[in-house]
Amino acid sequence: MHFKIAVLKGDGIGPEIVDESLRVLQAVGGRFGHEFDFVEAYAGGEAWERYGEHLPAVTIEACRNADAILKGPFGGPTSEVNHPKWQGVETTAILGLRRVFDLFMNLRPVVVYPEMLPLSPLRPEIVEGADMLIVRELTSGIYFGERGERMVDGQRQVWDTESYTEGEIARITHGAFQIARGRRKHVTLVAKSNILNSSVLWREVLAQIAPEYPDVTHDYLHVDNAAMQIVVNPRQFDVLLTNNIFGDILSDEASVLAGSLGMLGSASLNAQGFGMYEPIHGSAPDIAGEGKANPIAMLLSAAMMLRLSFHLEAEAAAIEQAIRSALAAGLRTPDIAAAGGTLVTTSQMGDAIERALAAP
Ligand code: NAD
Repeated sequence: MHFKIAVLKGDGIGPEIVDESLRVLQAVGGRFGHEFDFVEAYAGGEAWERYGEHLPAVTIEACRNADAILKGPFGGPTSEVNHPKWQGVETTAILGLRRVFDLFMNLRPVVVYPEMLPLSPLRPEIVEGADMLIVRELTSGIYFGERGERMVDGQRQVWDTESYTEGEIARITHGAFQIARGRRKHVTLVAKSNILNSSVLWREVLAQIAPEYPDVTHDYLHVDNAAMQIVVNPRQFDVLLTNNIFGDILSDEASVLAGSLGMLGSASLNAQGFGMYEPIHGSAPDIAGEGKANPIAMLLSAAMMLRLSFHLEAEAAAIEQAIRSALAAGLRTPDIAAAGGTLVTTSQMGDAIERALAAP
């Protein structure tokens, strides 16, 4: 089969890790007889350099003409946030892509590899075997709601608004239940219905939809309790469904279970199944260009692209298996070196995974 992929390499370590994912995809294509056509386009700081803006129309067009988007992280060093190259890059480029393509369903699998157990700040017996999928609403809620500023009694007052329609909740709830069917068949809704009206609506919509999925069980947790349960007993979770802001916070918390930010990929999908795939971490300017970046999060994102956008299950599983082989062989980029093994560079890790793919 033939697939066209819009490739946005991004900033910082982005080009290094995306390049590794491209050669691993080529290797998968070679082994399984697929052709991947990579169309490079620019967004973030790199686009600012080339076009003077963070998300140029030509990039949106390239993404629109592709079967999926493979994206590295955007953004610059926190010490340079006021430089025009980086100012507003998150809202224009990252939120912009989500908005333009209506990528409302963000999937963040948290899988703990046995080799990474020593890296977790939690005891191994708590983390071992944890395998959850955070399903986060990505195009509404407080990050996109009405915001403003006014003077009240001589003081500035500012506000952001958490707002959801029934339809916005319903579509992601259906998504979560459908995905749960392919997993351990349990959905946990996380909200704050003892305080927030919007959370009450999430519970009501879920209660209406759940009977359509009699084979999937569900329960509910207030977000404060969920934050605690993720570190106390992470194995209890299968699919965790939540809104934009709670999902943002909880998925970063849950990422700690996996040992490093460099170990987690993500997918963001729209109603037509079109998707954007990226690691959960940022552009790591502190290690950019040094060959220290862990490419595994990017490779896992590429595997999600094969599975979810192209329906190539065996091919996705082959990448995941090759990653497991490299970890089992003891290869470690610096971020996971404390787990013990042989220290390797970004491209040496990519090499090993490519080799494992060729000779499974
Ligand atoms: P970060 O995730 O880039 O880095 C945090 C720490 O983790 C750093 O020490 C970094 O070296 C390390 N790290 C991250 N990914 C790694 C990898 N693959 N291998 C090894 N180590 C890794 O977070 P930050 O420093 O807060 O953000 C840097 C920039 O990235 C900011 O401009 C931020 O806005 C942006 N960002 C972009 C996205 C995105 O494009 N979706 C997401 C998050 C942050």
